[in-house]
Amino acid sequence: MSFDSEYQTVIGLEIHAQMRTRSKIFCGCPTTFGSEANTQICPVCSGFPGVLPVMNREAVNMAIKTGLAIEGTINMMSEFSRKNYFYPDLPSGYQITQYDLPIVEHGRVSITVDDQEKTIGVTRIHMEVDAGKNLHEGIVGASWVDLNRTGVPLMEIVSEPDLRSSKEAGEYLKKLRAIVRYLEVCDGNMEEGSFRCDANVSINRKGAKEFGTRCELKNLNSIRNVMRAIDFEVERHIDVIESGGKIIQETRLWDAAKNETRSMRSKEEAHDYRYFPEPDLPRLVLTDERVQALRDVLPELPDAKKARFQSEFGLSPYDAEVLTTSRRLASYYEATNQIVAELGKSDPKITANWVSVELLGLLNKEGHDIADSPVSAKNLGMLVARILDNTISGKIAKKVFGIMFESGDDPDTIIDKQGLKQVTDSSAIEAEVDAVLAAHEGEVAKYKEGKTKLFGFFVGQVMKATRGKANPKVVNTILKDKLNS
Ligand code: ADP
Ligand code: MG
Ligand code: ZN
Repeated sequence: MSFDSEYQTVIGLEIHAQMRTRSKIFCGCPTTFGSEANTQICPVCSGFPGVLPVMNREAVNMAIKTGLAIEGTINMMSEFSRKNYFYPDLPSGYQITQYDLPIVEHGRVSITVDDQEKTIGVTRIHMEVDAGKNLHEGIVGASWVDLNRTGVPLMEIVSEPDLRSSKEAGEYLKKLRAIVRYLEVCDGNMEEGSFRCDANVSINRKGAKEFGTRCELKNLNSIRNVMRAIDFEVERHIDVIESGGKIIQETRLWDAAKNETRSMRSKEEAHDYRYFPEPDLPRLVLTDERVQALRDVLPELPDAKKARFQSEFGLSPYDAEVLTTSRRLASYYEATNQIVAELGKSDPKITANWVSVELLGLLNKEGHDIADSPVSAKNLGMLVARILDNTISGKIAKKVFGIMFESGDDPDTIIDKQGLKQVTDSSAIEAEVDAVLAAHEGEVAKYKEGKTKLFGFFVGQVMKATRGKANPKVVNTILKDKLNS
């Protein structure tokens, strides 16, 4: 698109994160996902008249921890409001949310795009209740409603319009998802809807003082879809403006199958929610001790861990980023490193490669998570140690690793059983080299006439003859010796 360079993209994200409390935000009902419809409800979350909400302390703690993790201001006094609207999945006719006085303001999240670090402002985090779910599938002539989700605590995390591309939006989402997962306040599952995102998108001419009119995109249930929807929307805005039209502020639905957004409702059709302070809940007042106690138990967060992996293990920013996407993966890597070191030599970079390329590659391919990896950190550490102590070559190690992944066996057992131990004994290798040279007199002659490219061919033949077990360094030395004498 030739006009792209004249325009700047402006994006702000609103994320709804379901908090991982055991009970709902204002009643004692469980929050377990996937139970039979309407088995986790009570008069409070079903919106009966005359019932009173009671604040869930753990939900407040989770919001505070998230606020601290993004270096936000924790408001020592915040307030709940009623947002009034009618919809069948909202039995009370209003959503309890925070409006004027949210629990967290002015946070920030740092992201890295194309090796450039950038800080994205977080306007606010507020707490609110989730709504239920309308069910249409497999029901003829009616819709049902499941209220199990009604009253599940949500955090809404609103970003400043600081994002400038779909890539930045994707990185911001990944980073925030990593943060809430590290904190164990949300499971971050976009497909199941426990981490949902709406994207506000506008464009303006580069250098312009004012932002353009924005559209809000909904129905984005993966990071990939968020990025695709933004890219589509930016192109649409450019097309409209270039053809002399005007963008109208509206909410648009992303259709992943058709790869397009379409209008859902315009600003004129927007509700007037008639917000007012929630009369059934007192203002939420925090103490310094409570906030400090939560600060004291914050885990090492993704950015800090990434920086430490770079300095402690000498990893590249990219490798450090990959290995710190989850706490589990990071501790798997650290445990593997530890095992390698205990077995003799240590090499954090090679180990990083085995975890992030070989292991993650197979896990992804087989649809496994690091939590249910068939290869334990102990066994992977042992495998890396066997490469470092020259028991096997890197190439054979890949073969062993494949068997480890399938059988769960430890590498030593596999190396033993399959006779894969590397041959470093030079007299044994010399015999193989002699045999190869004798069998390829023609090539040897050509080599001696100057066709030195054939060297690789001889190495290949020796490796083939030893089924990959010969130590490649020893093979090289002996071959060079023989061919150049
Ligand atoms: P609303 O109350 O309608 O949700 P907000 O002012 O809370 O509106 O903004 C919602 C989101 O829209 C925020 O993430 C904000 O950064 C983003 N936003 C605001 N203006 C723009 C704009 N011109 N372009 C893109 N995003 C914007
Ligand atoms: Mg909004
Ligand atoms: Zn309930």
